[in-house]
Amino acid sequence: MDLKPQAPLIIAIANQKGGVGKTTVAINLAAALVHQGQRVVLVDLDPQAYATLAMGIDPRQVPHYIGDLLLDDTLTVRDVLVPTTYAIPLLPSHLNLVAVERELTRKVNRERILARRLATIPDAIDVVLIDCLPSLSLLTINALTAATHVLVPLQTEPFAVADLPALLQRIHDVRCATNPYLQLLGVLLTLYNKDHAVARNIATRTRAVLGAHVCRTVIPTYNRLAETALGGPLRSYAPHHPAVQVFEALAQEVLQRAQP
Ligand code: ADP
Ligand code: MG
Repeated sequence: MDLKPQAPLIIAIANQKGGVGKTTVAINLAAALVHQGQRVVLVDLDPQAYATLAMGIDPRQVPHYIGDLLLDDTLTVRDVLVPTTYAIPLLPSHLNLVAVERELTRKVNRERILARRLATIPDAIDVVLIDCLPSLSLLTINALTAATHVLVPLQTEPFAVADLPALLQRIHDVRCATNPYLQLLGVLLTLYNKDHAVARNIATRTRAVLGAHVCRTVIPTYNRLAETALGGPLRSYAPHHPAVQVFEALAQEVLQRAQP
């Protein structure tokens, strides 16, 4: 019998466009996965630290943040993790991550630094969700290099689709260069308004082009989901809201899609 713990799923939530729902998905998916019994760590890899703030953590008050983990090889994930009130431990971010990214460009093997640091993740963790910054820069390449999977939130509006080829190309580049095992978990349609013909049209066209790569689950636009930015996972304060069920469906789909 193999008693060795399974390596965690490491899911980078990435799209170089801002405002497409990455952070909202990261936080609410994390909560849904926890609800389904998964042990989850959330990694905030955006210097804007919105996920950190949304999880109720003040970036100025933490002893260490993700930038320290990247630069200091004597630190382990455990040293940097902060507990949150949502049973989702967090590797917090801070505005200084901008400077850290510049510093990383001077390092040897600079694309693999996050991957190496995440190797110190505690054995008991099942899923690591990385909330990426809105760029295709070195930090995102680090996330894609560390990840087993990438989930791409795609806002159902015309210009969002135009950015997709560059991201898919970057995923391809990372596979060729630093992480041959990286899998596209799926493209997730977000901020979907079924009453808008444009949104319906984009959803149909995206499915026609990308087929099974597009997640079955779609994240509709719900005003209450916008509160996540301040109040943490929606299920913690509105457990009966329909969006909570949507994220439960997404959590199930993610686990299914990630199965080997
Ligand atoms: P990103 O991390 O890609 O920049 P965010 O998750 O921060 O995107 O979302 C951008 C803005 O849109 C935020 O104000 C957020 O609250 C809001 N938002 C995101 N997803 C939804 C949604 N499904 N319904 C309503 N508002 C949303
Ligand atoms: Mg964000």
